[in-house]
Amino acid sequence: MARHTMLSCFLPRACSPLFCLWAVVLPVVSLNSLNHHEHQDHRPKLLLVSFDGFRWDYIDRVPTPNFRRIMDSGVKVEFVENVYITKTYPNHYSMVTGLYAETHGIVANEMYDPTLNLSFSTEADSLYESRWWEEAVPLWVTVQKDGGRSGAAMWPGSDVKIHGMFPTRYLQYNASMSFEYRVERIIEWFSAPEEEAVDFGVLYWEEPDESGHNLGPQSPLMDAIIAGIDEKLGFLMDELKKAGLYEEVNLIVTSDHGMAQLSPEKIIELDEYVDRELYTWVDKSPVVGILPREGKLDEVFGLLVDANPNMLAYKKEDVPLRFHYQHNTRIMPILLEAKEGWTIMQNRSGPFMLGNHGYDNTLRSMQPVFVARGPAFRQNYVKTSMRSVDLYPLMCHILSTRPLPNNGSLLNIQDLLSSQPAASTPTAAHPPSPPKLNRVPG
Ligand SMILES: [Zn+2]
Repeated sequence: MARHTMLSCFLPRACSPLFCLWAVVLPVVSLNSLNHHEHQDHRPKLLLVSFDGFRWDYIDRVPTPNFRRIMDSGVKVEFVENVYITKTYPNHYSMVTGLYAETHGIVANEMYDPTLNLSFSTEADSLYESRWWEEAVPLWVTVQKDGGRSGAAMWPGSDVKIHGMFPTRYLQYNASMSFEYRVERIIEWFSAPEEEAVDFGVLYWEEPDESGHNLGPQSPLMDAIIAGIDEKLGFLMDELKKAGLYEEVNLIVTSDHGMAQLSPEKIIELDEYVDRELYTWVDKSPVVGILPREGKLDEVFGLLVDANPNMLAYKKEDVPLRFHYQHNTRIMPILLEAKEGWTIMQNRSGPFMLGNHGYDNTLRSMQPVFVARGPAFRQNYVKTSMRSVDLYPLMCHILSTRPLPNNGSLLNIQDLLSSQPAASTPTAAHPPSPPKLNRVPG
């Protein structure tokens, strides 16, 4: 069954950007670094931190002295184009794989796989079934296969066995575990004796996403929430300093997505347009996967396509290419996308939130913060734009770990680095022979 799924996923993706890019992306990593871990006594360290739902402009809304400290001694990127759909799980998996959601397979927070006839929810045990995650290989697995060690404090997917591995050190997900506790574990893992210390750490915190949903990003009450996140960042920086790690660890602080303000006046009720008997609803607003009943695709699409001026309806094969959101069996035959600030519901009886994300990834409101500092980064440098998939080859470069095929490009982002990669960009006239790699499974 699983084998059949891999084949059916592999075929359409042979033409996906992943395969077009990989020959360009890989060679920019210095070949000198390939056996890095075998020869280096002191490995570079990297900690990737995500504050869920921390929109790019939150840092300018209230005083955020700790974010400022990182920017002044490091880098900031103003425009970060994350991946579609701008939801938590797809984006966190993109950051650690460098792949668009259609390629890494975590296409939404709620999914249905018609080949397996199984459903996935981030709020159910299906989350822990390896097969959902194994269309890609997260960086912690690659680091470990390369002889390094990793530590994960609640990063989405990090407590799932993926390709036979957990992170070297990790915490089982528990939302009630404080930020401070997570930081203390990460510090412990980084400061262990050399033969046990982790090289790569990932740290996740649920805020300000939760408050953004409940209050709406425009609420003045969000000011205190944002200031609180800055204090949490300050705690992390202080703990790194106390452990003597602050100048040694490369610290990246970012997020999965932003947050848009919603309004009870902006609700699209599907029951007005299409009978519930005709389809199954997969995933939540604002991008809704619609699985029509057998033989009802054209009928359901016809009812939805011009139903509401604030809702776009796509057949899967017509989803705009810039979203990189077609080539996976877990993407439903019809996709509904609400315009910014609008909510799609079946009717108004369901729970309503004041803030949400998931919309078009080019909307400014959907984009996350990005700052970083440490020995690998330039100081006091502001870069205009990046794509979140470029983060993966950057992290591989910093860790001297060979990247797997990915949709990112180190070339796009290498100006953030204090010293530039040694290898030059290959030209089409002289295609390099790519090193032998474990290909990302279909
Ligand atoms: Zn959220």
